[in-house]
Amino acid sequence: MHEDLDLLLKLQVIDYDLGELERSKDYLPDMMENLNREIEEARTRHSEIKQKLEDAKVLQGSLELEIATSEAELQKYQQQMMSIKTNKEYDALVAQIDSLKEGISRRETTLLETIETLGNLEKEVVGLAEKEAQIVENNQKQLEILQKKVDSIGEKVASKHGTRDSVMAEIPRSTLSTYERVRRGRGGRAVVPVKKKACSGCFKALTPKKIQEIRRNEKVHTCDNCGCLLFWDDDISKD
Ligand SMILES: [Zn+2]
Repeated sequence: MHEDLDLLLKLQVIDYDLGELERSKDYLPDMMENLNREIEEARTRHSEIKQKLEDAKVLQGSLELEIATSEAELQKYQQQMMSIKTNKEYDALVAQIDSLKEGISRRETTLLETIETLGNLEKEVVGLAEKEAQIVENNQKQLEILQKKVDSIGEKVASKHGTRDSVMAEIPRSTLSTYERVRRGRGGRAVVPVKKKACSGCFKALTPKKIQEIRRNEKVHTCDNCGCLLFWDDDISKD
């Protein structure tokens, strides 16, 4: 390969890496935000279910208290039954007893449901606590790695620029300015291989004469259509 093309390809790799480093300034913080959000969501879910468990415990306590109060009252009414004088008094007391019994039965049903819910919530809380701990551990590790990457971007960019400067210094000025112009114009690759007898930058067919010239490799050729710097690579270009 022509020496200048070799250098241009090196330059192109460096420029690609620099572009990636630039893009990583956006996507690394995005990735970190997602990892932090995942931790936050696991924490919220865990504490929501923990709160539900606490609420169910409070409900259980108050139902048990209400049942005990009603049962004491029931006992009191049942004793009063012994000293009933009239039918009217009897009917009134029976109505009160029935209403109390009905209330107790209703609360007992709710209490049983609450105890079942409590059991399920307790299991769920254990599962969510484990899941939260796991997510925190995994994500913290990844966050540390990503933070290190973020912290080293500046240094990497500086080092790439250093290499870029030394590669640039060896490339003839006019070739370099073609490279820079095409790269800016296309927003990407400026040095491309011949592929299927065409420029792989714009897919415009190349004349057999032009292909022969590129293969001869005596100077750097450009595509008449898009301006890309063309090179021949036996692996890619020979078909
Ligand atoms: Zn082209």
